[in-house]
Amino acid sequence: MIPYDFDYYRPNSIQEALTMYQTLKHAGRKPMYFSGGTEIITLGRVDWVYTDAVIDLKGIPEYHVLFKSESRLILGAGLSLVQIEEANPFPLLSETASEIADHTARTKITLGGNICAQIFYREAVLPFLLSDSLMVVAMHDGMKIFPIHEIFSKCLCLSEGDFLIQVSTDQKFVEAPSISIKRRKQWNTGYPLLTAAALKVDGAIRLAISGLCPFPFRAFEIEELLNNSDLSMEEKINGAVERLPSPILNDVEGSAEYRIFVLKNTLIDILQELGKE
Ligand SMILES: Cc1cc2nc3c(=O)[nH]c(=O)nc-3n(C[C@H](O)[C@H](O)[C@H](O)COP(=O)(O)OP(=O)(O)OC[C@H]3O[C@@H](n4cnc5c(N)ncnc54)[C@H](O)[C@@H]3O)c2cc1C
Repeated sequence: MIPYDFDYYRPNSIQEALTMYQTLKHAGRKPMYFSGGTEIITLGRVDWVYTDAVIDLKGIPEYHVLFKSESRLILGAGLSLVQIEEANPFPLLSETASEIADHTARTKITLGGNICAQIFYREAVLPFLLSDSLMVVAMHDGMKIFPIHEIFSKCLCLSEGDFLIQVSTDQKFVEAPSISIKRRKQWNTGYPLLTAAALKVDGAIRLAISGLCPFPFRAFEIEELLNNSDLSMEEKINGAVERLPSPILNDVEGSAEYRIFVLKNTLIDILQELGKE
């Protein structure tokens, strides 16, 4: 049970949502955008999240777009992970998303809610980091489009009151060979020990990781090594470990040493699989 009361608002347009946030804020309230609502329910119960007014973005039509042209794929941030898996417009995204939580939770968890989640795994962002996607953000002075690497650094860096509305991806990346590997401590559902997603574009492997550090990241420096044909497999893997960001998680899910051991094996699997393509 959530130990506090909050008001529920459901605007029908982007402008209405933005104005509502500012109005509530100026009235001294603590508004919070609400998408699938799973984090507010789970973290609200243990008092890690507090709000007295939730603004449900799901009444906004643009929030649910799933549009494919020859050149781009546009996904509304309000699509649930199950909707994405079923429509399967981006195979790597479906593969990554289908390993998040269980099917029932994924009918609620949305793309935008996962990318903006406070719990740091945010696994659904991995395919977008690999595909240099564009993030469409609703801001007080209009809609703006940002390259993902400009606006996502550990988390999506939005100004207070702004929200993610859509993600746009070049079809070239959507159709590229890919793999997503999630390793857990135990069971078939739950948060990862680590998740590594990779995409092969123009003959080069791209890599993004969640669960190894307390944030998801695109491993640009490791990609250089993985794609260096002068190096042996062993040199690539050992060099990759030297180039990891810090800190490496060291918690009940797994020690830092164990995570690195798992990463090494996962990188071998990725190189073997995408090396074939
Ligand atoms: C049982 C269970 C297991 C899970 N396992 C995993 C896992 O293994 N890996 C993983 O990555 N996730 C996992 N999750 C999901 C994760 O922890 C969050 O609960 C989920 O991603 C939140 O998505 P939501 O759509 O429900 O967002 P909400 O709960 O509605 O919102 C989450 C946060 O994002 C903000 N927000 C929402 N939408 C927007 C937007 N469009 N723009 C700006 N801010 C926004 C909200 O204000 C809030 O702070 C799991 C969840 C559950 C319940």
